[in-house]
Amino acid sequence: GADARESQLLDAQARAKVKILQRSPDDGIDDPERHLVRQIVESEDLDDPFVLVDLQKVIEQFKRWRRLLPRVTPFYAVKCNPDPVIIQLIASLGGCFDCASKGEIKQVLDLGVPPTQIVYSNPCKQVSHLKFARDQGVALTVFDNKDELHKIKAHHPDAELMLRIWTDDSMLSETGALSVKFGALPDTWGALLDIAKGLQLSVVGVHFHVGSGCRHAGAFTEALNNAHRVFDLAEKRGFTFKYLDIGGGFPGEMPGSTRHEGMPQFEDLAAEITPLLTDLFPKEIAVLGEPGRYFATACQTLAVKVFAKRAPVRRKSLSAVIRLSETQNDQDATRFIYYLNEGFYGAFNCIKNDNHEATPELLNPRDEETTTKYDSLVFGPTCDGIDIILKEYPLPELKVGEWLLFRDMGAYTTSSSCNFNGFAKALSRYCRIIPPPSPHRRHTPSRVV
Ligand code: PLP
Repeated sequence: GADARESQLLDAQARAKVKILQRSPDDGIDDPERHLVRQIVESEDLDDPFVLVDLQKVIEQFKRWRRLLPRVTPFYAVKCNPDPVIIQLIASLGGCFDCASKGEIKQVLDLGVPPTQIVYSNPCKQVSHLKFARDQGVALTVFDNKDELHKIKAHHPDAELMLRIWTDDSMLSETGALSVKFGALPDTWGALLDIAKGLQLSVVGVHFHVGSGCRHAGAFTEALNNAHRVFDLAEKRGFTFKYLDIGGGFPGEMPGSTRHEGMPQFEDLAAEITPLLTDLFPKEIAVLGEPGRYFATACQTLAVKVFAKRAPVRRKSLSAVIRLSETQNDQDATRFIYYLNEGFYGAFNCIKNDNHEATPELLNPRDEETTTKYDSLVFGPTCDGIDIILKEYPLPELKVGEWLLFRDMGAYTTSSSCNFNGFAKALSRYCRIIPPPSPHRRHTPSRVV
């Protein structure tokens, strides 16, 4: 029950040494993440980058999901950020998991999550991974082609299958679009259901993913209508569907964030989805979602140190190294080059892999009015030329040894970083920044959900 889950969370927090910052209206802290990062770097002689993981943000995103999409059970997409404390927290809140491989399934099971709370939602599975899912009792999975059906028949014949359908994600960048790789096209749906029927496989629902980082209204409308068409085709063939999986793609910024201002927010997507679920799918149909970035984006703040610097540098000499914008021809302007202890092969792989715009903040900000900014070129720590974090970014002159913060660095960052050139992945520090009790309501001791 809820109490057991809460104590499980408290255990995990204790093990992960979670720093609890209980805010009060008069604590004088205007920026709690910055406050905690400062405490860490001032009390320890750190030379490596780290991420500050605020578990409270995950909890708040969970509550926001439950409030706005109450019919949809979140199956957190582990690939987005497989941090064990985040996974344990989501499990303790009652969330489930979307795993894509044997490794992810194992990680989640090892944390005590039952196999019935996992969807193995990779449409193209290696046989050894499929057998592992079977042996561990993970039944729910997906397919989008006939070869996969034969493979499932041979190695996991009792699986419960969802047909992954194609979605139109052509307006997404190639880093977010998934439909080139996965999803059955409409003219194959009937035939695939027939093949499954012939193989006596149990098809129980439809799965789709509108594309990661989906920021256009209407994507879910089309996909939900298509899913409904598959429900009709399945009924005609004698299948009894019980699941609809609406995938991921939900934005991860907290309410009030200005990062993607003017683009659809979670609230807008939830308002698009909710009435369609009611209209198209009877209430006996269980609806799953597979949010990844929704939970992971905002909870991680990356703290990095400037460990080397080269300055001033003339533009002419830089142009040989890197293509700078052609509109500026101030050949002799002063520029600085900095080297950070985290780079393109670390958490900043998201710049290329996830189209992320890295936005630095100084741990100790300068006075905006009086400080001169210079076009700066910021590299990561490896000896590799493409290890670039920022080009021509206006920054005050930084000192070697100074720390920077990058917020919203939790999704597809540390999960896909590597140890290239011998630089280790950034380690995590955990905290819970708990907002002050609302003055309007009587304060009850904080519960997990
Ligand atoms: N589900 C599947 C099958 C995916 O491939 C992905 C990511 O690409 C996700 C869920 C998570 O997507 P997002 O992080 O956009 O929510």
